[in-house]
Amino acid sequence: MTSSSASPVFSALAPYGWDDAWADEFAPYDTEGLLPGRVVRVDRGQCDVVTPAGTVRADTEFVVPRDPMKVVCTGDWVAVDPDGSDPRYVRTLLPRRTAFVRSTSSKRSEGQILAANVDHAIVAVSLAVEVDLGRIERFLALAWESGAQPLVVLTKADLVPDAVTRAHLVQDVELSAPGVTVLTVSAVEGDGLDVLVGLVSGGTSVLLGQSGAGKSTLANALLGSDVMEVQAARDVDGKGRHTTTTRNLLALPDGGVLIDTPGLRGVGLWDAESGVGQVFSEIEELAERCRFHDCAHDAEPGCAVRGAVESGELSHRRLESYRKLMRENQWIVAKTDARVRAELRREWKRKGAAGRAAMELKRRR
Ligand code: GDP
Ligand code: ZN
Repeated sequence: MTSSSASPVFSALAPYGWDDAWADEFAPYDTEGLLPGRVVRVDRGQCDVVTPAGTVRADTEFVVPRDPMKVVCTGDWVAVDPDGSDPRYVRTLLPRRTAFVRSTSSKRSEGQILAANVDHAIVAVSLAVEVDLGRIERFLALAWESGAQPLVVLTKADLVPDAVTRAHLVQDVELSAPGVTVLTVSAVEGDGLDVLVGLVSGGTSVLLGQSGAGKSTLANALLGSDVMEVQAARDVDGKGRHTTTTRNLLALPDGGVLIDTPGLRGVGLWDAESGVGQVFSEIEELAERCRFHDCAHDAEPGCAVRGAVESGELSHRRLESYRKLMRENQWIVAKTDARVRAELRREWKRKGAAGRAAMELKRRR
């Protein structure tokens, strides 16, 4: 296929995130006459796929039936049958760049994919309540683990009118979020929205954060319309209050794509060890200077991490938060089926595996 921006495929799919790299991945299937598309919704074992020929309906299972890792999810790029009646078959899944996975709480724990090919994970944090740095770190770990770039948006900035106080809050969050941009936004006054619109205009974004953090309000501001139902101020629960939209993946008017699935909203911490490491990168760096390679930063002599706490370079809160997330993560890892995790690593974490995965899928068809 020509990856030229003048091609009909490009003009139909570019608003959904199609780029030259996807065109290259798809090229062998183009030769076979298949249709490229992106999954915009999944329900009852079927999915809606936007294609250059319009939205078509297809089965979600395509390679190994009953394997949850081999089922398409919102955000996936796929190749479907070019014609025939719906539901069609998804003939292949293009290798995922990133994926949000939940390890389900069933006895035989298995991963469930919540969203694929997300570039920006927006962690919404309300300034209407006291900022909980531990909670932010938790969401950041999830975001890093997926492969997406996290971004923290401190919402309801109009409720903190004092600029100095706001700057301090931003600084506190920045210290807990190495490598992450921290923005303040007021959906009421519009402050900061233009910066956010610019950041999400390239690529696919998801909104994470606690109920009431202002995610629906942000989504509506980005979409320029009231697609998401905003929770009434007194509705503390807020579960299941989503307006039914026909799509969970929407093209934004100023560019970029927003994925908002109910599952992502209730996301917890799963196998995110490397994600936790990225959130606490300064601790991991300090740990390299501990005398013992397997230092638990407890009572060991020559511990650089404890040394940093004693000198005030590292806050005690941050070390405790790191420990807590590491412990929690190890418990979840122990629960999660080893085979699923091994497969996850192979398929999504090692960037170099993408080409091989494509070959594998091709071979199995
Ligand atoms: P969600 O549960 O994360 O989707 O949160 P919502 O978007 O439903 O917002 C929760 C509450 O916060 C609603 O009452 C909103 O009106 C309010 N809210 C959202 N954004 C802002 C803002 O920028 N300023 C103020 N003052 N309130 C906001
Ligand atoms: Zn140590």
